[in-house]
Amino acid sequence: MFEGRWIAPLRRNIIDPLACLRNGSPLRSYWQQLERTQFLPQATLRKMQWERLTQLLRYAASHNRFYRERFAAAGVEVEKIASVRDFQMIPALSKEEVRQNTAEMISDGVDRAKLMYMKTGGSTGRALDIFITERCSEQRNACARRHDRWSGWEVGEPVAAVWGNPHLPTGWKERLRNTLLAPVIYLDTMSLGPESVSRFVTEWRRVQPTLLFGHAHSIYMLCRHLKEMRVSGVRPRGVISTSMMLLPHERRFIEEVLSVKVTDRYGCEEVSLIASECEEHHGMHLNIEHLFVEFITETGDNAGDGVPGRIVVTDLLNMEMPFIRYEVGDVGVPSSDACPCGRGLPLMASVAGRTADFLRKKNGESVAGISLIENTLTRYPGVDQMQIIQETLDHLTVKMVQGAGFDPAVLQDLTAYFRSVFGTDCNVSYEMEKAIPPEPSGKYRFSICRVPL
Ligand SMILES: [Zn+2]
Repeated sequence: MFEGRWIAPLRRNIIDPLACLRNGSPLRSYWQQLERTQFLPQATLRKMQWERLTQLLRYAASHNRFYRERFAAAGVEVEKIASVRDFQMIPALSKEEVRQNTAEMISDGVDRAKLMYMKTGGSTGRALDIFITERCSEQRNACARRHDRWSGWEVGEPVAAVWGNPHLPTGWKERLRNTLLAPVIYLDTMSLGPESVSRFVTEWRRVQPTLLFGHAHSIYMLCRHLKEMRVSGVRPRGVISTSMMLLPHERRFIEEVLSVKVTDRYGCEEVSLIASECEEHHGMHLNIEHLFVEFITETGDNAGDGVPGRIVVTDLLNMEMPFIRYEVGDVGVPSSDACPCGRGLPLMASVAGRTADFLRKKNGESVAGISLIENTLTRYPGVDQMQIIQETLDHLTVKMVQGAGFDPAVLQDLTAYFRSVFGTDCNVSYEMEKAIPPEPSGKYRFSICRVPL
């Protein structure tokens, strides 16, 4: 009886503020601040963003050896940076550089043991170690809360997650811990089939979530099952699709089955939420209070309105392990449109990012490729990048990029893990690669299914 929608105002107005107070959490004050700043004029937001950027650069120049040397090597004097062009004299930072310089990227005098540690996997396709403060994590959670509300969900209301439970990515884990004040039900994307969907629907009817969130393709697969099973009554107020590209046909199908617009979101674990659609669905608003986002064309110029460019982000919050001009690895299209919602946050028209096929089990269930990557890449040391190709129902080819500390014994563990998912007779072969590049379209594919449906 404490799980339905009716109790949400109590959670929102009393339990949530009390819980923040008791834990000394700044989440609510950050969130309330973000609710206000989103409607500031874009020029004011840009000014605020530039101030935060120059503060970060000055801090990095005086408190971070890695960046001090990087700035010096590029002939950049941060005190003289007066324009975006000046700022862009700083070379872009690749994932490979982050991997090789993790310890050096921690600012002077910062005790790593006091920072929160995350190993990324799912959102990048490559394993990286990231360190942030609890304060930074709360700022990120506050931002996620603001953007969750854009979907129609309200604080304190029950949530349904379509995810590779129980191995949730850390970023979302943090988020979910914060929403423990409201019930969360799961559909496990590691074994998606009519039975698990039936159980999920039963839970749904009991808990009545108002928000459904998950990987784009997983939500789409859920909707296919709902349609095939002729299930009715799954009626969220908002649907948030995240972590991978929402393909146009998937969006149409989800919206048809659930009778609600999908709110698409883009981000990565290294810097958290980068952009999100609002209730107008007129492109994605960039989170410029927390990030400086650039779109760089092939010729190295700033992409203009409607022109695709590589997404390069600077995290304005993380002083302890700064990410300055970080190459996310996706391609986005900036837009100079004004959104009818009136928010001052600029827009990104679209993004070409990550995709992952569902793989198939012999019993007919599906396995989300992105969940497989999250459950392996973040767990095994020395594996930098992975792509899983399902050739037949009992044969997987795993392309792998080895990193420092790679131990061949990992392959046995991986094979055992894949067999626990696909059956003991599943053959797993490994191909070692120097790199697994994205497709010419800019899409990075975590998993490819060659088994006909
Ligand atoms: Zn808007």
